[in-house]
Formats: sequence, C-alpha cells, structure tokens
Amino acid sequence: MSTFDFQKLLRPHLQNFEAYSSARSEFRGKASVFLDANENPYQSVGGGYFNRYPDSSNIEVRRKIATYRNVLPEQAMVGNGSDEIIDLLIRVFCEPKKDKILICPPTYPMFKTNATINNVLVTEVLLTPNFQLQKDEIIKNIDADTKLIFINSPNNPTGNLLNSDDIKEILLAFNGIVVIDEAYIDFANSNSWVKQINNYPNLFIIQTLSKAWGMAGLRLGLGFGNEQIISILQKVKPPYNINSVSNNWAIKSMDLIGEKQQMVELLIAERIKLRQHLLTLPYVLKVYESDSNFILVKVLDADKLYNYLLTKGIVVRNRSRQPLCEGCVRIGIGSSIENKALFKALSEFE
Ligand SMILES: *Cc1c(COP(=O)(O)O)cnc(C)c1O
Repeated sequence: MSTFDFQKLLRPHLQNFEAYSSARSEFRGKASVFLDANENPYQSVGGGYFNRYPDSSNIEVRRKIATYRNVLPEQAMVGNGSDEIIDLLIRVFCEPKKDKILICPPTYPMFKTNATINNVLVTEVLLTPNFQLQKDEIIKNIDADTKLIFINSPNNPTGNLLNSDDIKEILLAFNGIVVIDEAYIDFANSNSWVKQINNYPNLFIIQTLSKAWGMAGLRLGLGFGNEQIISILQKVKPPYNINSVSNNWAIKSMDLIGEKQQMVELLIAERIKLRQHLLTLPYVLKVYESDSNFILVKVLDADKLYNYLLTKGIVVRNRSRQPLCEGCVRIGIGSSIENKALFKALSEFE
C-alpha cells in the first residue's frame, strides 16, 4: 500500500522554502495608483496595454480550469506549456545525481530530456508490444530513490490509452508521485484521471491547451493534484510564468467549451477518414488504434515514405528509431484540405 509522505518526497532544501514575494501580491485592498512594481504607467510600445505585470498567483485562470475539471482552485495550476510543469515536478522532487524518474518508452521525449537537463537519473521500462504498461516490471524497478513515474495516456507516439487497472496498481504500490500526462485526453474515449485526485494523494495530472484547444502558440499547460503538491509548484515556478495575453485568452476560452468540442469532433472525423485511407494502401502493415489527434502507422519502409512525403511538402514524424516502433511514422490529423493533399500523396507512393 502506498504511504504518501509529502515532506519526505520533497528535496530537503525546499522543505522550508519561502517563495519570491511579488510587489503586487504583498498589497491587499483597493488602490488606483500603482507605483510598486516599476512598470511603465502609460502603455506598450507599438500600442496595446501590456505594461502591467500579470497576476503571479494566476488565481483567476486557476479558478476557471478548476471549475472546468471540477476540482478546487488550490488543486489546479497553469504552466508555460506542460513542459514547464514537467520541469517543475522534476526540480521540486528529484535530487540531481541521486533521484530517479521512471518512464515507459516509447513515449513523449520531454520527460527524459527534462530529467537529463536537471541531471536526474531515468529508469526505463518499455511498454509491451501492444503498447500497454508492464506493471509488474515497473513495480519491480521502483527503488527508494524513484520519485516520479511518468505515464502518458493517451500515449505519444502510439496514440492509445493505457489500461486504468494497471495505473491503479502502480498508484497503490508507489510512495512517490504518479504523473499522468493527458495531453490528448480531449480526443479520447475515456474519462480524465483528474476526478481521482481526491482518492490518490500521489496522483498528479498534466493537461494542455496546446492540442484540442488550439493554443499551442500561447503556451498553456495545466496541472492538477493535491493541494500540497500544487502549493510547492506554485512557489517554485517563475512568478510571471503566464503572460497577460495567454492568461486572458485562457480565461475567455474556458467559457467556450462547446467550441472546443466541435473542433474535437471535426478532428476525430478526419482521423477516421485517415485511418480508412491508410488501410487501403498496400505498403501499410499496421494502422494502430488512436485515442488522440494522430495515428501511428507501420509501413514497409518508414524512411522512404518520410522522405517521399517531404518531396511533396508534407512533414510527418518518423518514429522508426523509437523502441517498439520499427517501421513507424506518426501522422498528425490535419484539416480536411491538408488531408486531401496527404491522401493523394500517399496513394501515389510505392
Ligand atoms: C504535445 C504534448 C504536450 C504539450 O506540451 P505543451 O508544452 O503544453 O505544448 C505534452 N505532453 C505530451 C505527451 C504531448 O504530446
């Protein structure tokens, strides 16, 4: 049974850490003259009004995403992309050269990249050949220095959801934090794990507005977990990690969930079309099921297909050098016009 001891998990030097106190956060009450943050009082060069610092606690957007996912604002945070949240988790819980994260390749490369940048060790337990977790092998590989297990569901680049009973067993067997990256959950035929954060103190969920929400350029990642974890990440994050434009757009978008849903339905319809088209091609060996906005496909010669598509001005992701992905390319779901161009090119390849 998991015994989650937050204080023990935290890196020792952060146990009594006092966060940077921004000028505006020390002020309580009402005021109309703000001379506390050395800002330009007029406006921005080029027009526009970005002359004031954004709210360092991100409280308004956190309230919105908390309502959206039905948790408390204290259980929700925003990062400058999910990548910032991955980095924060590693920096807060992993002592360089000593502590470890555990990942399950083939998966999102940023978990390992961020660990490596922070000089944190990485244990790798491959997925099974049908891209599920080797849960017993994972549990066997956990040791006293394993602080975080990163699970990506639906998984990139394979596109599939990971079995929730396996994840539950890992949550119960592990004293560290299980991080589930749900970047593609909007496209999946499954519930988010966010509603389970009150049942598992060691569960942390990452989502993003970069995919279904169409805001990759604004850099907005979402984190959900128990209040203790969120509180330390809020303290360690750069005070102004979310700029005002992104902040305001995120707040506005949370009232437009129907619009996001329409976009998801459009993309899923295109995904079905792409899948059907791929299945007609003689050089396609396998089209993997997808719960995301991309499809992994195994072909006779991945390098050749990849380079051929480039000559047609179409860029896909060659994943053929990832473990268990020999011969595979990952194709994102484009617009219907882009897909027509893709289908034509694919049909003409031999
Ligand atoms: C695309 C993707 C993200 C998104 O990262 P952002 O920094 O939020 O843009 C996160 N996790 C996975 C697995 C992804 O594929």
